[in-house]
Amino acid sequence: MIRLNALDCKLKNTILYIKKLYRQSLQLNPLFLLACPYCGAKGACKKRGSYERSLVTFPDGKPEVLRLKIPRVQYPCGKSHALLPEFIVPYFSYSLPMILMLLSDYFHRRLTVCGICEKYMVSPPLIYRLKKQFLLHKKQWLGALRDMELSPPDFMEELLTSFYARFQNAFLRLTTYSFLQSHKNPANCSRPRFGPADTCPFCHNL
Ligand SMILES: [Zn+2]
Repeated sequence: MIRLNALDCKLKNTILYIKKLYRQSLQLNPLFLLACPYCGAKGACKKRGSYERSLVTFPDGKPEVLRLKIPRVQYPCGKSHALLPEFIVPYFSYSLPMILMLLSDYFHRRLTVCGICEKYMVSPPLIYRLKKQFLLHKKQWLGALRDMELSPPDFMEELLTSFYARFQNAFLRLTTYSFLQSHKNPANCSRPRFGPADTCPFCHNL
């Protein structure tokens, strides 16, 4: 998969406008700028169909299911990748803003676990799974020492009021996966071991 930057402003300001953001992200990321996560080739992809997926969002104080058409592109190396804006957490049905709102309610203790389940129509195990993933990635991002100094509510506030796209790109570079992503990336995103010239053996691009 290729992560598209869509959240070019503070996450707190953009929580409600997923569909609009999605269209924008496709316009903001022309194909010639996208690099293949497998071989690194840039500007060499072609559109290769699309697939539909659901995304649960939280636009007006209640969950809403959107159907999104996710485009795929293919590179000369033969690998194809889905184009995913960063407000979609890979392998999760819930939008990133909804997950962060839910966790914000949890960490700030605005609601009990039961209250969160009712508000977002989710189950307690999902809340604990998200909490675990959030704390794990917080520690990976901050390092052990700073992780102890910065409380989860304060870190959440930093995320919601900073430029998320920059954070997401830096987190991806550090860990090779997206923030809150719980499964590994598919094999077509793992870069192969190249020869001394570091050239992709498939499409001969850097
Ligand atoms: Zn490639």
